[in-house]
Amino acid sequence: MVLKKNILLIHTGGTISMSEDTTGAVKPGRNNPLTQGTEHLSSIANLIIEEPFHLPSPHITPKEMMRLKFILEEYGRKGDIDGAVITHGTDTLEETAYFLDLTCQADFPIVVTGAMRSSNEIGSDGLYNLISSIRVASSPEATRQGVLVVLNDEIHTAVNVTKTHTSNISTFQSPQYGPLGIVTKRGVLFHHTPTKHESYDVQDINKNVYLIKAHAGMDSTLLNAILDLKVDGIVIEALGQGNLPPAALDGLNQFIANNIPVVIVSRSYAGIAQDVYGYKGGGKHLKEMGVIFSNGLNGQKARLKLLVALANTDKMEEIAEMFSF
Ligand code: ASP
Repeated sequence: MVLKKNILLIHTGGTISMSEDTTGAVKPGRNNPLTQGTEHLSSIANLIIEEPFHLPSPHITPKEMMRLKFILEEYGRKGDIDGAVITHGTDTLEETAYFLDLTCQADFPIVVTGAMRSSNEIGSDGLYNLISSIRVASSPEATRQGVLVVLNDEIHTAVNVTKTHTSNISTFQSPQYGPLGIVTKRGVLFHHTPTKHESYDVQDINKNVYLIKAHAGMDSTLLNAILDLKVDGIVIEALGQGNLPPAALDGLNQFIANNIPVVIVSRSYAGIAQDVYGYKGGGKHLKEMGVIFSNGLNGQKARLKLLVALANTDKMEEIAEMFSF
């Protein structure tokens, strides 16, 4: 007989715990459907259930992410948990998963999941994804792979996964790297292992970092306005391999002159922003000016990483070093 594992199940809200009403509006109800009818789930694991908040994921902030980290670490210290599953809205799921990947010191498998269809919609994927996630979190191979994201029979790393579609249930993809494994009817199969993992001890997130997107014809107006907001750092989703229009450079220079870190990611779906182009505003020029390239993260994750970096240091070389990982 296979012994059931002790799985910490943390519900945070999102479509997975919402229902559709008679007007077609999907919203949270008085009771979370995930906390009812857990008999089926209890047959696959011993569940310890926490529900620290019940929020649509556009309402989640680093404060809630930090709360999840503390809950996970508290259970980690008690030592009787084999794995954890977090249910979460899909809109910002990748951000919470990545934040926990960077900062959570618990050493059991942590899986984040959600659903594209609410609990009473035809083809609802919530319970299915939850069962898959409990199976992955119970799997010994899931340890030391970093925080995982499991939906639609696929296992992704928090660092690479992103939401790619507004409504399709195969929305979560890991552009250019692919998933780490799959969930089948019979088992959990890992076919890749991440080659590296970074972790930072953070107790508080209290800096101000903005994320903006470059576009053809971008100038310095928005950058100048942001500089007036007592900003601690900025992430720019730049063009292609990491280039900006020349009219944006005056604004950029103000950040550099004020020793405010500027992190460059690409607005492209896949690939890594690098110092390749030598023309005015090209990546090489930006690097010479003092910007930091992000080594493949998307904008929303680079923003979280910069918040974590700024919680540890204000030294530009140390922040750049973190982003070279
Ligand atoms: N808007 C919802 C949320 O993120 C979408 C979802 O859960 O899939 O809470």
